[in-house]
Amino acid sequence: MPIDAVLGLQWGDEGKGKIVDRLVKQYGYEIILRFQGGHNAGHTIYLEDGTKVVLHLIPSGIFHTTKLNLIGPGVVLNPEAFKKELDHLATLGVNCKDRLFVSSLTSIIMPYHTLLDTLCCGKIGTTGRGIGPAYEDLTGRKAIRVYDVVTGTKQSLTELLADILPIKNAIISHFGGTPITIDSMVDYLLEYKELLASFMMENMNRFILGSLDAGKLILAEGAQGTLLDIIFGTYRFNTSSLVTISGLNAYCGIPPQAVRKVFGIFKAYVTRVGNGPFPTELMNGIGDQLREAGHEFGSTTGRPRRCGWLDLPLLNYACQINGVTDLIMTKPDVLSVLDTFKVNGGYETKDGKSTPFFTPEKTGELIALNEFILDGFTDIHDPNFQDLLDLIASYVEPPIRMVSHGPARDEIITL
Ligand code: GDP
Repeated sequence: MPIDAVLGLQWGDEGKGKIVDRLVKQYGYEIILRFQGGHNAGHTIYLEDGTKVVLHLIPSGIFHTTKLNLIGPGVVLNPEAFKKELDHLATLGVNCKDRLFVSSLTSIIMPYHTLLDTLCCGKIGTTGRGIGPAYEDLTGRKAIRVYDVVTGTKQSLTELLADILPIKNAIISHFGGTPITIDSMVDYLLEYKELLASFMMENMNRFILGSLDAGKLILAEGAQGTLLDIIFGTYRFNTSSLVTISGLNAYCGIPPQAVRKVFGIFKAYVTRVGNGPFPTELMNGIGDQLREAGHEFGSTTGRPRRCGWLDLPLLNYACQINGVTDLIMTKPDVLSVLDTFKVNGGYETKDGKSTPFFTPEKTGELIALNEFILDGFTDIHDPNFQDLLDLIASYVEPPIRMVSHGPARDEIITL
């Protein structure tokens, strides 16, 4: 059986949490796999009784009691945040034991990562949760992984940290922070040793491939969005992991041919949180209207999201990079606060030429033409909504399979 994936096609916050929840229900995925990112993600789900839950690390399949949930090797995990989320789920009556596993290869976000993030990464507008510094250590061969903690002793962890901390402390001191002691970090890790041991899975990639061979259906859940990818995103103002479909292969040891459907999630407008170029941004009252109507405030940080028009070349780019097979639109209901709205189909470049292509390294130079002006719609049954669907279909190859038109679980239609 192949594996399917859910990915964001813009700058994150496309509403992936609700979609994963829906797809799990509709297609009966048995295993849900989170493959990158950390607790900077915030996936919002409304339970049957209307309770709102925001998941940061734990896959959205946790609310389906018969499903297995995996946190993959490419995720960076803050043990404190992990415990907090487990405790919160326990208060909702959700027991994660034996239904949730963390790869032994998953990297730990250490307190010095969080400190370095706040001391040095302010300009980018990161969530300040240590995600970037933790990924830097992974590629710099300085990460401490779940396996190191679970099999670690006071001595082995002291030796590991003795190699890592001097350089961290040099940077921390340079930026005016208080250096961190080895002992405090060893104690920190030992505090979470038992918890991590109770969720650790070795050879997760073998388990995944074996499950596929056994005919299990697996859904991989991405965090953030394609334009935040470390390679193909709007570089410097992006996240530190592989966010696109290749991240699933690279981080989880899954061959590309094992992937079947790629569900690409996009909003009917565009939002971005933090700094960085955004060609269709609306820095006016319309942007404010969309922010208010769409409750566009970060589910992790509460920061107001920047809002702009739907950008078709950008959407096309994200579809191509990810090999999207099925598109899912979210939040068109938010546009219904406007009498008319615009959609972008191309850009003017610095030298005054026009181009229909999105080029990530030039994003800051692109001026969106926003040439399509559409009449507003009252709801998704209004014929004007069909005009929007037709316009998108004329630009982007994969078909739109579903439209989510409100935050509630049942506010979604299949086309
Ligand atoms: P994610 O990180 O991609 O899962 O996105 P978030 O959960 O951060 O943001 C999505 C927000 O939009 C959440 O508050 C959802 O409840 C809400 N939402 C999801 N789909 C829709 C929709 O179709 N319409 C509206 N109005 N809200 C939605």
